[in-house]
Amino acid sequence: MRKIAFIALLCFSALASAQDQDFAKVQIKVTKVSGNLYMLEGSGGNIAASVGEDGIVIVDDQYAPLADKIAAALKSLGVTDKPVRFVINTHYHGDHTGGNLPFATAGSTVIAQDSVRKRLETGGSAGNGGSLSMDMKAAPKGALPIITFDHDVTVHLNGEDIRALHFPAGHTDGDAIVFFPKANVVHMGDDFVRYGYPFIDVTAGGSVQGMIAACEKVAAVLPADVKVIPGHGQIATLGDVRDYATMLKATSAAVQAALKSGKTVDQMKKDKILAAWDKKYSGDFVTSDVFIETLYNSLTNQKNAEFVKHN
Ligand SMILES: [Zn+2]
Repeated sequence: MRKIAFIALLCFSALASAQDQDFAKVQIKVTKVSGNLYMLEGSGGNIAASVGEDGIVIVDDQYAPLADKIAAALKSLGVTDKPVRFVINTHYHGDHTGGNLPFATAGSTVIAQDSVRKRLETGGSAGNGGSLSMDMKAAPKGALPIITFDHDVTVHLNGEDIRALHFPAGHTDGDAIVFFPKANVVHMGDDFVRYGYPFIDVTAGGSVQGMIAACEKVAAVLPADVKVIPGHGQIATLGDVRDYATMLKATSAAVQAALKSGKTVDQMKKDKILAAWDKKYSGDFVTSDVFIETLYNSLTNQKNAEFVKHN
């Protein structure tokens, strides 16, 4: 049940207020990934932190009630007394941006792709274009990124060239994957997760095609021994990213074949066309049926067929 609650929170996070989860019980676990690069786990998406002589840069910030604990965990490393100078958001979902307001209030500068700011500012709905749908409340002004970028941005601190690169139409339309070339680490945001079939926010411009493109691009250009921080789950390798992309392609092909043969979504569900992958990937939240809908909606959306691969 704990797992169900956790997975549900991945997606309902923007709706979840502090009362829905007992954040007082959440502990922040810090893992050294490489050099001065750390991964922080608490509740919500994984955080990457570059901690060094110039201060601290974090990628994603979980939930607002955890901000003090996150800051304390970073300070307890004993590397620097300097604050979190920059927060980079990988996408707009609340389990990755919930801490924007407290960090910004404490003086951090929040950076994100243009679309992240737009979606946080206006609110709207998130979902797979099918049975999974939720309202996203507009974020308060103080939580909005104050520096935004279209294609990419680089933050030069701690001897590192921290580069956030936009991958359009993957998990959402505003995904950034963040590279730390010196530490040889990448934070994938939710374009790569380890909880099973991924949630793809088709309603917010996400698509399986974009997610595959992002994973394949990363796997093609990064060093073989790069350490991969997924949006959710344990530190991974490029091999894990490749396996995940292979699953996304194979399941997409299964839905494509069913589409060609004239099957409706309901028939695809009834025929359990993803049975070969379900044991390994079907989850409590993104079930086989939810993922069939996701793939169907991605593959039949004309806009996705022509999405721009600009990175
Ligand atoms: Zn997300």
